Amino acid sequence: MIVVKVGGSLGIKYDLVCADLANLLKDGHKSVLVHGGSAETNLISEKLGKPPRMVTSVSGYESRYTDRETLEIFEMVYCGKMNKGIVEELQKNGVNAVGLSGMDGRIWEGPRKSAITIVEDGRKKVLRDDFTGKVERVNLELIHLLLDHGFTPVLTPPAISYEGDAINVDGDRAAAILASALKAEKLIILSNVPGLLRDLQDETTLIREIPSEQIEEYVGFAQGRMKKKVLGAIEAIRAGVKEVVFADARIAHPVTSAMTGRGTVIRRA
Ligand code: ADP
Repeated sequence: MIVVKVGGSLGIKYDLVCADLANLLKDGHKSVLVHGGSAETNLISEKLGKPPRMVTSVSGYESRYTDRETLEIFEMVYCGKMNKGIVEELQKNGVNAVGLSGMDGRIWEGPRKSAITIVEDGRKKVLRDDFTGKVERVNLELIHLLLDHGFTPVLTPPAISYEGDAINVDGDRAAAILASALKAEKLIILSNVPGLLRDLQDETTLIREIPSEQIEEYVGFAQGRMKKKVLGAIEAIRAGVKEVVFADARIAHPVTSAMTGRGTVIRRA
């Protein structure tokens, strides 16, 4: 079982990801694909006159401020345009894909944050109308039902809160907890960078391998949203996933390249 997470940043080639994944599945692998949609959501939000608002938590993590209206736009793009676009692309490649959000069948469940404390212009501020949270539980019944009948699940945030609200969750960490729950051999996290870079401005500074016992020391290289990927990797490795790879989704054969070690490989000791 291989969990593939493809991000939502600019430059990602979904057609290449889907074609490559299809080949892998033809070789007998089983996989669940998780995807993002941040760049497209930003674009559509702008067009709808509701530009995105990124907020930074007190602990330094950046996320999308998600009030009800933002959540609805988020769902249109992630569960609509992005999810169905990817399902279509996989179907073109002969994969019987089924697109679902983390709310469907309560696949991703967790608490909604009742309030988030952010830092804005150097001052702390509490936001209360935010539909965000984190995935704590993965309910695998529906996933197994699909996999056992030859379908390939294509999953996207939002998740569902314990009370039944849609919650915007981090896709990398959701993919990580899913990989753990599925006891996946590999978690492949594809984005618009070759992997974790020592210097974000210089793609030749790719970190090729991180011994899993040293991964905490590498968090410092990650900025912004990349931090969550490293956190997700730590969580997945701790929970038993053998290998996590950060790799490039802009190149030909992005999934199989990552499988053969192109990118940043974190291997369980
Ligand atoms: P996605 O939506 O594809 O998952 P994100 O935007 O969440 O992608 O994260 C990828 C981004 O993380 C890159 O485009 C890059 O700008 C940023 N980043 C920050 N620090 C690093 C780093 N050390 N190495 C690679 N990318 C980094």
